[in-house]
Amino acid sequence: MNRTIGVLAIQGDFQAHLEVLGLMGVTGREIRNSGDLEGVTHLIVPGGESTTIQKIAQFDGLWDKLVDFQGPVMGTCMGSILMARTILSPDARGWGMINLAVQRNAYGRQINSFAARGKIAFLDHEFEMVFIRAPKIIKYGDDVKPLAWLGNEVTGVISGNKMALTFHPELSGSTLVHEYFLGL
Ligand code: GLN
Repeated sequence: MNRTIGVLAIQGDFQAHLEVLGLMGVTGREIRNSGDLEGVTHLIVPGGESTTIQKIAQFDGLWDKLVDFQGPVMGTCMGSILMARTILSPDARGWGMINLAVQRNAYGRQINSFAARGKIAFLDHEFEMVFIRAPKIIKYGDDVKPLAWLGNEVTGVISGNKMALTFHPELSGSTLVHEYFLGL
């Protein structure tokens, strides 16, 4: 199958995702405006500041195109926030790609950022999860399956071809999560 992997590149750690793709021999396309999405089969939404994307992506209709994107999407940290249906703190609407409610900055401020080993459903070993002003998953629908855990807390979910992770797999020096995503 011919794949074109887009990485939302308005703001945030999109470069880290492009580097992981590079390790896999895949060249990602930077998505900055709505035209860039043409022909994209898989979309990655990086970590960053969701309130910034909420403003900037409105300009040329990019926001609406993102809402309508039908292919596989992986959102990491900020990406998981934007993909959600309900965003808390402050209350906002996400793209509604996953029947999910998330609370922004739920572990505290930047200084409370941390890394810890957690479990991912498709891996038979623990995976280092980096949380940077991360959100928490508050609620998800019956059609949504948990995919990642830190202890008992769900840190990633999947629904059809949409995958939302509250941590940053792009910062763990591993291609395993991206490989799984490209297989969706
Ligand atoms: N705190 C950011 C937000 O709410 C997310 C942080 C991140 O992506 N590392 O948008």
